[in-house]
Amino acid sequence: MNAKSNYCLTLIAMCVAGLLSAAEPDETLMLPPKYRKLLPLHEKLGEPRPGDWLTVQDEPGQTFRQYIRQKPVRADRRRRTIYVQPLGELPETKKKIVELTADFLAAYFQLPVKIREVVSLESVPEAAKRKPGKHRSEQILTTHVLYNILKPRLPRDAVTMIGITASDLWPGEGWNYVFGQASLGDRVGVWSFNRYGDPDRDEEAFKRCLLRTMKTAAHETGHMFSMRHCTLYQCNMCGCNHLGESDRRPLRLCPHCLAKLCHATGADPIKRFESLIEFYNKHGFEEEREFCEKSLELIKPTPIAKNVY
Ligand SMILES: [Zn+2]
Ligand SMILES: [Zn+2]
Repeated sequence: MNAKSNYCLTLIAMCVAGLLSAAEPDETLMLPPKYRKLLPLHEKLGEPRPGDWLTVQDEPGQTFRQYIRQKPVRADRRRRTIYVQPLGELPETKKKIVELTADFLAAYFQLPVKIREVVSLESVPEAAKRKPGKHRSEQILTTHVLYNILKPRLPRDAVTMIGITASDLWPGEGWNYVFGQASLGDRVGVWSFNRYGDPDRDEEAFKRCLLRTMKTAAHETGHMFSMRHCTLYQCNMCGCNHLGESDRRPLRLCPHCLAKLCHATGADPIKRFESLIEFYNKHGFEEEREFCEKSLELIKPTPIAKNVY
């Protein structure tokens, strides 16, 4: 058995890949000009390190033009709320992290975000659980969560719904675990706190757990808007194979993924940067705030000088 540990699995990614053209003439030229202005701030993805996602997965990537062509999931007037669905009771500190993550998602996607009442995991059948070892906690099968728990509960006004659980997640035979998983077309996803450390330990552990949670929630929600893994830049939509790689990955989106997000949600990128600056400022994420400020400077329209006679 080819056992793999894996950060994120996209359910229908491989099916879509075969339908896309293999080579775009120049992905940058296909990017709307306002997003092109941001490119100088972003670092190319570069060669993967041993054990990284791109050493174990063959990813085709997805340009902005390919994204538009595949008719992605988009918010509209009827469906424009992102729901966060707690699965099983969470301790107080983790509830706080979920609340902060919901505020963050609202700024990141520029859509209303609502946290739902807890759904118990007690009724998960034995066939959808496993105990991987004496010292590991029980795992829940992600496909059961996505298609038996979340999808039937999608509210009418939901554009996407993401489950959050303290349980460890497992996507099926051949895999050890996943931190999160989402569907590119069914508008459901899930992520787990299980491997993000104990946020009650101290202030630093809390902030680390919050940052990891924000990254995963935004990454999985990006997938639910049909965004595939990024293979161009250091970007929150890059696939990750282990926690070290995930910790290296930035919270920001590259200009290509930002253009996709704005297409899917109808977000104004200027307002989005302003909302994120407010969030990062309030919660002490200095590096992210500074990056958004630089981005805002570049993307803002240049004022037209008035002629004085
Ligand atoms: Zn992913
Ligand atoms: Zn990207």
